Amino acid sequence: MRRAVSFILMIMLLAACAPANIPPGATGSVGRPSNGVLVDGVQLQPSDELIVLDPDHAWGDKTLVDLLHMAALEMRKTYPDTVPLVVGDLSARDGGPLPPHQSHQSGRDADVAMYPLDNELHRPFLRADEDNLDVEKTWYLIETLLHTGLVKYILLDWNVQKIIYDEVQITVPQQTLDEVFQYPRPRGTRKGIIRHAAGHANHMHVRIHCPDEDIGCVEE
Ligand SMILES: [Zn+2]
Repeated sequence: MRRAVSFILMIMLLAACAPANIPPGATGSVGRPSNGVLVDGVQLQPSDELIVLDPDHAWGDKTLVDLLHMAALEMRKTYPDTVPLVVGDLSARDGGPLPPHQSHQSGRDADVAMYPLDNELHRPFLRADEDNLDVEKTWYLIETLLHTGLVKYILLDWNVQKIIYDEVQITVPQQTLDEVFQYPRPRGTRKGIIRHAAGHANHMHVRIHCPDEDIGCVEE
């Protein structure tokens, strides 16, 4: 009896430690971005218009990978002389913990560079400020991503949000600004698709919604 109890306890412990219970037939993003895995993920491939900083950490849900390719193509189409879109970490091949990130576990997160005014490639990411950020191109990238309806959050430092907001508010309707930006509300306000997170002054962290076909995916 005691052995049976300890066996059951062991199973429960293992289940608690597992990043996610993978439902039968689940593919793509499984579990939460901060406690999940990636099943049959797709590796983001570099191209003329897209640079991948670390191929081992460039695995994602197909929806996310397709989104990044589409955005990179759209940027090149609109700005033919632009530097490629620079993409940092997505997830590991099978997902799971990817230090130093807390999320990036289930193939729904991607770190993406903003565009610099000097139109040069910066590796690692360049810390954005008023003097080096190409607001027009960066805003066009954000619009391109958001128009798909696939993006749940973009994590971006509050001060960088301000730089973009102050410049685009001349042309963008107030209702759109309110929906898209957390700024000028205080950091920590749970409003806006673009939200402040520490450590996000040199890149944007893009998270997509759970794709419909990913039956094991959990929104967070
Ligand atoms: Zn990130």
